Amino acid sequence: MSSAPAWHALTAEETLTQLATTGQGLTSEEAARRLAQHGPNELAAAERVSPWALLFGQFKNVLVLILLGGAVLSGVLGHAVEAIAIAVIVLFAVVLGFIQEFRAERALEALKRMAAPNATVLRDGVERRLPTRELVPGDVVLLAAGDRIPADARLLEAVNLEIEEAALTGESVAVPKVTEALGDGELAVGDRKNMVFAGTTATYGRGRAVVTGTGMASEFGKIAGLLAGVEESRTSLQVALDRVGHTLARAAFAIIAVIIVASVIKARMNGEPVDLLDMLLFGIALAVAVVPEALPAVVTISLALGVQRMVKRHALVRRLPAVETLGSVSVICSDKTGTLTKDEMTVRRIVVAGQTLEVEGAGYVVAGRILAAEGDLPQEALARLLRAGALANDAKLTAAVDSEQREHLRGDPTELALVVAAAKGGVLKSDADASWPRIGEIPFTSETRRMITLHEGEDGRSFACAKGAPEAILALASHELGADGVVPLTEAARARILDDVARLAGQALRVLAVADKPGASLSDCDQGLVFLGLTGMIDPPRPEAAAAIRTCERAGIQVVMITGDHPATAEAVARELGLLATGKVVTGSQLAAMSDEQLTAEIADIRVYARVSPADKLRVVTAFQAKGRIVAMTGDGVNDAPALKKSDIGVAMGINGTDVTREAAAMTLTDDNFASIVAAVEEGRVIFGNIKKYLMYLLSSNIGELGLMVASFLVNLPLPLTAVQILYVNLATDGLPALALAVDPHDKDLMQRPPRDPRTALFTRPVVSLMLIGGLWSALVNTALFSWSIRSGSSPEDARSLVFVAIVLIEFFKAYSFRSDHLSIAVAPFANKWLNLAILWELALLALVIMLPFFHRVFGTRSLAPEELALVLGLAATVIPVLELGKWLVRRGALGKVI
Ligand code: ADP
Ligand code: MG
Repeated sequence: MSSAPAWHALTAEETLTQLATTGQGLTSEEAARRLAQHGPNELAAAERVSPWALLFGQFKNVLVLILLGGAVLSGVLGHAVEAIAIAVIVLFAVVLGFIQEFRAERALEALKRMAAPNATVLRDGVERRLPTRELVPGDVVLLAAGDRIPADARLLEAVNLEIEEAALTGESVAVPKVTEALGDGELAVGDRKNMVFAGTTATYGRGRAVVTGTGMASEFGKIAGLLAGVEESRTSLQVALDRVGHTLARAAFAIIAVIIVASVIKARMNGEPVDLLDMLLFGIALAVAVVPEALPAVVTISLALGVQRMVKRHALVRRLPAVETLGSVSVICSDKTGTLTKDEMTVRRIVVAGQTLEVEGAGYVVAGRILAAEGDLPQEALARLLRAGALANDAKLTAAVDSEQREHLRGDPTELALVVAAAKGGVLKSDADASWPRIGEIPFTSETRRMITLHEGEDGRSFACAKGAPEAILALASHELGADGVVPLTEAARARILDDVARLAGQALRVLAVADKPGASLSDCDQGLVFLGLTGMIDPPRPEAAAAIRTCERAGIQVVMITGDHPATAEAVARELGLLATGKVVTGSQLAAMSDEQLTAEIADIRVYARVSPADKLRVVTAFQAKGRIVAMTGDGVNDAPALKKSDIGVAMGINGTDVTREAAAMTLTDDNFASIVAAVEEGRVIFGNIKKYLMYLLSSNIGELGLMVASFLVNLPLPLTAVQILYVNLATDGLPALALAVDPHDKDLMQRPPRDPRTALFTRPVVSLMLIGGLWSALVNTALFSWSIRSGSSPEDARSLVFVAIVLIEFFKAYSFRSDHLSIAVAPFANKWLNLAILWELALLALVIMLPFFHRVFGTRSLAPEELALVLGLAATVIPVLELGKWLVRRGALGKVI
């Protein structure tokens, strides 16, 4: 295979020969060999951020440059120890920042790999779900509506297959596909109608195709080379923090300017020379004091850790901003089938020929009989119904299973249930497919709610089979199969059937009608059908879902069920889940009759939407958003993508969802479970809550230092802390506890409070108040201590030592206090084991700093006498009652609302 042939000009057979494969695909060994030869089926990775670039990026920070300048200045001044200490600490900050960013980067990459799509491939003659990167030329892939096409491929079979190729051609109208060879050797991509291309999407029908080009050799690969890597948007949190950083930096420079001017004036008045270098060092100390050096690293790691925790709880977040939005979700719109229920359908009742039959057994085990309540089974009518249900069906049961063997099951649970019920009644789908081969079909869509297939009959005449929502099937039927054979469908009969439907649906059963039509062709298979009967299947609610719904209720989150199913079924399931304690059910047709204004007015009361189509979901999202609600919306079908995009948090299904929805969604559930959405919302709240904690903690530390410096200057004291000491506090003392706060166990009432208003920033009034109270008290205590020590004759170095130890201890106490912005410290004070470990480590470090002569030289400290230690400890501890008072005021509502 030197240069690729024009695949579209070849017949399917020629293509297979060229690729040295068959319609049954490759063997595993051959595939492995080709994988080694062609490489994985993926686009050449966009430039990864190199570690060096990341490391170098750390030095672009103004603050780091200022500090380095400070180190050089100290060196020039002859303060070698100080110069080295600053340099070491700057390096420490740089390395810390680098490691965190590096890890976050790698964590995001791992997430992307986890969310990578799969494809259905024939290997060794059997269907397998494999990661698309393992595809090789010659593989035979199966395609279905909603699939992202995994590689360029030549179609072998196309049944109503339509592909949307906008990504390649810009044309958004789906292209119907064919399998015949197309003569002309030179065809534009958009005209190669017997080919499908990587990066496009199947919107309708199904198909089978042999892979011709993978990775960078695909048409998409050719243009992808030109595209830049995906841009990661900054989260609103990161933007807000940038703003804080800039504000702080400006404040620092303003204060430094004022202080320099004031000192110059003071020196002039006293007739002393101005010591410019000394002042520069003071300025550097101030700049250091005002900037929270540890913050960027802590933010990055806290978001990355949050995303990891969500993964453990079965939620894959695709974009970092989603983590923050999750915390403020106020409405969750969920599919019923598969998300709130288990999607393990079992046919329980069959209504046929005027009788209601009971079906034994549960799950997909073919064990159990079909029983008549009284009298004999209507054998013939039942067999005809079961046959139609099994034929108009894409599910596969490859062996008659007598135990739950997942590998023998493939397909939609609703369809599997029908196949299993048929097997219980003695009709094997595989036999039926062999006896009556399928020659045409009209696939199921969420809009038509029915599926029709055309089969070759024994007598040479073709016949149609259909199944779907009862209304949809009745609309096509003109006759029914009664106890005495086929009779015209009267109005009374329709009413009776609808009564039966309501009766079954009221028992929370999903009801499907089955019909057939002897002697039908593709053009007339959707009219004049013979109605054969109804099947009612149970789909048990997920046990966790009810609990999750109660959690939402307490957390002020409205849960809404949106389903294509019958209103009575939806209502019964909703009641079982405790979703309909208040509120009402609205059907798609009622919804259609409502104006947008009406819908917005009533939306708070509607708990269940039944018989709605994907387009209705979009209206529901829009109406909620018009009321300022933050909406999480689930979707699995081809046409759900617009609603997912419009919602604030689009939620896709990892197991039963389509590729299209997964790409439109901000989050994918790896277990398709409603409870996982609630878990993700909870994690979102936890993350947000913890960000507040370490922000309060870190910024109040800066306020304390700044306050201390400014106050000391005002009352004519020497510099209360050196730049090195301040750096020690900001990084060595604050860094680890801040990280520990980022993984703090959440407030116990986290899911008992209403959702946060997304418009309120991080800096709520309680947060700002406590931050100021903690910071200012620290400044007050330390200024008093410093001033007392100096006035009672201590040297500045000795006084600084006292203040240094006091401020470090205050930070320890504050770390525990700031575990909540409103709950008392007495509520489970040592619940955060990371914080306990961090503080123990810091205590050991502090002991070294005040005891070892080496550190005395580095940090300008000295040993403290026991009574001095007792004094600073006592003073530092005062911050606890002060903050408790603040929280008491918060709880009383005097300092704004807790959110
Ligand atoms: P949901 O997933 O919300 O329960 P769907 O849109 O999947 O709703 O299905 C809507 C209705 O269409 C179902 O209530 C059922 O009557 C019918 N239906 C569902 N799946 C199929 C199918 N594979 N073939 C035919 N009809 C179906
Ligand atoms: Mg469905």
